[in-house]
Amino acid sequence: MTTRKQGELETEAHRQELARVARVVTLGELSASLAHELNQPLTAILSNAQAAEPSNIQELREILKDIAEDTIRAGLVIHRMRSLVRKETLAFASLDLGAVLDDVVRLAHSDADLRSCRVALEIPPRLPRVYGDRVQLQQVALNLLLNAFDAMKDLPAAERQVVVRAEADGVDRVKVAVRDRGPGLTEAELERIFEPFFTTKREGLGMGLSISRSIIEAHGGWLWPESDDDRGTTFYFTVPTA
Ligand code: ADP
Repeated sequence: MTTRKQGELETEAHRQELARVARVVTLGELSASLAHELNQPLTAILSNAQAAEPSNIQELREILKDIAEDTIRAGLVIHRMRSLVRKETLAFASLDLGAVLDDVVRLAHSDADLRSCRVALEIPPRLPRVYGDRVQLQQVALNLLLNAFDAMKDLPAAERQVVVRAEADGVDRVKVAVRDRGPGLTEAELERIFEPFFTTKREGLGMGLSISRSIIEAHGGWLWPESDDDRGTTFYFTVPTA
């Protein structure tokens, strides 16, 4: 193997490791709400188990069915969480980006609740499949969604709305837009938000956007913001179709 090739492989390995660390950080941000999301089915299972009356077979059947459903729900939460932090090499494949976005919105669901944000997901029927790495594209969408929640923290709760939408962009790309109603970005911020460690948040790491952009560029797409004064920010990214 040539030294250059070796160097390229090491750079790629570092990039992947960094992306994974950033996912763990993102998951840390979500952990309060994930705990909450797991607690719900567990509490339901417990109270069902305690309430079950052995003499009533019909009731017992229904309770067991409820318990099974809640167990599946809890399992899904753990599954989504694990798939995000698992150490995986890049796995490019043909993907349903609508399903990827749906997963992300579910993952962030109780976080959205805790912060009184509503999320609308708009996926047109027959969206073309894209070619990409599922976990990394989830990471990008999750970063943009959590940033959108953060951006609206000073708005009245009723106005905190994010729209996540996907559409075909020409014949060979799918474009995703994540639109918030936050304060928008100043010129100075626009120039710096993609720099590693640039953050305006007290507990921010400032890695989300720089990693997201490098992930999208590794996919052969683009990631950019558009900001309207007083009307919020929309982050767009494109991914080539499969
Ligand atoms: P972090 O979220 O840890 O600060 P990011 O790289 O994701 O790191 O974001 C960098 C900065 O970009 C944020 O601190 C914030 O100032 C700005 N920013 C990102 N998304 C938005 C948004 N939707 N609206 C307004 N500002 C944003």
